[in-house]
Amino acid sequence: MRVLQGTGVSPGVNIGKPVNIERSLDFSIPAKISLDQGIKELTSRYQSIVEKYNTSSREVEAEVIEAYILILNDPELINSLSDISSSHLEEIYNIFLEQAEVFKQMDDEYFRQRSEDIEAIGKELIFTMQNISLEIDMESQQVIFANELTPNETSSMNLNQVTGFVVKEGGPTSHAVIVAKNYGIPCILDISVNDFDIENTKEVIINGTTGELIINPDKSSLKTVEDYQLTIISYEENYKQESLEKLGIELRANIGSTDEIKNFKDPLIKSVGLFRSEFLYIEETQEPKLADLVKANNLLNDKFEKTIVYRTLDIGGDKQVNYLNLPKEENPFLGVRGVRLTLENRPLFQSQISSILESNIKEKVKIMFPMIATLDDFLEAKDVVINVAKKIGSEVPSMGIMVETPSVAVAPEIFIEDVDFFSVGTNDLLQYSFAADRGITSLNKYHDALHPSFLKLLHNIIKTANDNNIEVSVCGDMASDSDGAFMLYLLGLRIFSLAPSQAPAIVSSLLKADNVLKTLDIDEILSQKNSQSVRKFII
Ligand code: PEP
Ligand code: MG
Repeated sequence: MRVLQGTGVSPGVNIGKPVNIERSLDFSIPAKISLDQGIKELTSRYQSIVEKYNTSSREVEAEVIEAYILILNDPELINSLSDISSSHLEEIYNIFLEQAEVFKQMDDEYFRQRSEDIEAIGKELIFTMQNISLEIDMESQQVIFANELTPNETSSMNLNQVTGFVVKEGGPTSHAVIVAKNYGIPCILDISVNDFDIENTKEVIINGTTGELIINPDKSSLKTVEDYQLTIISYEENYKQESLEKLGIELRANIGSTDEIKNFKDPLIKSVGLFRSEFLYIEETQEPKLADLVKANNLLNDKFEKTIVYRTLDIGGDKQVNYLNLPKEENPFLGVRGVRLTLENRPLFQSQISSILESNIKEKVKIMFPMIATLDDFLEAKDVVINVAKKIGSEVPSMGIMVETPSVAVAPEIFIEDVDFFSVGTNDLLQYSFAADRGITSLNKYHDALHPSFLKLLHNIIKTANDNNIEVSVCGDMASDSDGAFMLYLLGLRIFSLAPSQAPAIVSSLLKADNVLKTLDIDEILSQKNSQSVRKFII
């Protein structure tokens, strides 16, 4: 047994088989089967993945793998491979690279993206011929190891089998971590697959709360997994309507994928507080049609009885959509992202607004704009909505903003006459406040939402909103973190939009905050010099 220390970013304790999804080619490993056999084997592997996806409502991903089968069995490709001996693996792979290059030169973005698929298929063919297992065993529990995880990668996994993520690069609010939290999957950053001998490791225990990774655990460590299950039971006991009433709070869900909508079931959450609509675009290879967007909204409507806070497209930063052909930026987090991008791409923006107002959510929707930095940003975006509503003869919905740039957080009063609500995006607000990219692990000491200067900002927003009777919620990850939620409650927040899997733990934490509320002096907390001393106030 060995224990490695990383940074815990999505709480929970679980066990699983370690699976490295990072693979590099090594042509010195000889082929164990012929090229023909390799193609057959890989094709049948793809076919079984297609079947699995089709039976678990992942039709979009099934279509991608079907395209892989066509590419791998393309007569022209087979012809180019026919003269190469099965032992010349590098030459085989080069044929795929050449084909990929042809696609890369094409004008059409769809074909340019296929170029990456061709490379990936070539790689998988070489692994298959070398008899290196590609299979991420979909049946057993697994802890995924990767250098980085992109939103595209997480969206193509069977997350129900994933019991943990161990990611070398990334910040606590990077998108892999958000996905992990939404699914209640423990996640640790800053441990690499090269830090231990993964081939000879049967099982690992991942503790996403402490950041510990136990390699080949002994019997007594296995008990930590059992103990965690007991803690979960105590959280579940507190998780009831009376607790919400006692606390005077409302819980809303953060939703960021079709699977999350389909799998959602929580007895106490009736609303969506953050619909990360960009996933509808990221999951596709071309711009989704109006009808598809409406369909997704209707699905949302079926699952949630009450308010749906629909955030308009938040592309840019770490969320890229290839087919939009956006110019490369030196500092994408400070670039044309969120509402800036949709204001520059009116047809894209208008089509999204139409999809909202033409779907069943229109009665309960509140539209929220991301990355607002000035009142003009908001007024311009609001105008777009008003015009679309006029055109299709629909009522104008409530509109509000994400508070995620310091310019809004320091002066929310500028907005109070115009916006219907505020929702604080603590993930971005934190990175912009401390000028520390949310995706860089080594900057983690700056990603601490309990720092008093950050709490002062939050206090300012929450107080301004409450004093002016404007709805305020937090939809950033701070609301899904026990200590973060504790502090937000003390600062007067009552609407928490969170990763549904964390709701029982958060309610337990808020019950404790409620107990100390009368005895605590907020000014004393805000006058601390660092987050360590703020933490001493949390019980
Ligand atoms: C945030 O920035 O806190 C937020 C909720 O938005 P996202 O994480 O999607 O950028
Ligand atoms: Mg954000």
